[in-house]
Amino acid sequence: MTFSTTVLTLYPEMFPGPLAVSLAGRALSEGTWSIDPVHIRDFATDRHRTVDDTPAGGGAGMVLKVNILAAAIDHARSVNPGAPVIVMTPRGKPISQKRIRELADGPGVILLCGRFEGFDERIFEGREVEEVSVGDIVLSGGECAALMVLDACIRLLPGVMGAPSSGAEESFEDGLLEYPHYTRPTEWEGRTIPEVLRSGDHAKIAAWRKRQAEDDTRSRRPDLWERHRDARVQPASGARRKNEDLGS
Ligand code: SAH
Repeated sequence: MTFSTTVLTLYPEMFPGPLAVSLAGRALSEGTWSIDPVHIRDFATDRHRTVDDTPAGGGAGMVLKVNILAAAIDHARSVNPGAPVIVMTPRGKPISQKRIRELADGPGVILLCGRFEGFDERIFEGREVEEVSVGDIVLSGGECAALMVLDACIRLLPGVMGAPSSGAEESFEDGLLEYPHYTRPTEWEGRTIPEVLRSGDHAKIAAWRKRQAEDDTRSRRPDLWERHRDARVQPASGARRKNEDLGS
């Protein structure tokens, strides 16, 4: 089944953009996913095709008009039923790998990209949408954020990545950063590949990788580490029972 994506934007020419190359590009031409970039301006109702207006209360910039946004969303829902509507905004919930996995398991996504100062707030009450941020940074528009979300979903679609296992060990999949990687040459500018990785002892390698993942997460991402630790201290009821059975 095709993962159907609809992007509502003032710059439809930005899509598929970088997603036309490499793995995503091949998957697009094979029909694993599809993209329908829709111009928000198509839903303007006046002669000048206005999509924005000055902010109520004054201040700099322009705000996307709620009635135009609603018409664009309603259209996207009618052509891509079942897909959740995700609005790109720095005020949204930070996107996570967990949410990306859920989206990739679904029928597709509708992504709404802002520009200027963003959206008239009433759209978030008037339509069932999910506000998503791609990080604590401010972009000039939602298009690059939408490309990120799409890319992250597409690589998880069945058949897109080479080895089926290569998705499972990535950063965030188990609440940790991934362990570091090395490849030939064995020595470079006096630096060698850690001995254990050349030992051929798979159990030792797995233990080393696990420890590295934990150490790196603790030092680089204390926020992730804390959540990971809390999840282990207070496991879900099923996991707790299993631990008790094991006597831990
Ligand atoms: N005035 C807004 C920023 C607008 S930036 C504020 O301060 O919150 C213009 C558009 O870029 C936004 O409407 C949004 O669609 C997109 N954008 C900017 N930063 C983003 C981020 N971190 N995550 C997702 N979308 C973002």
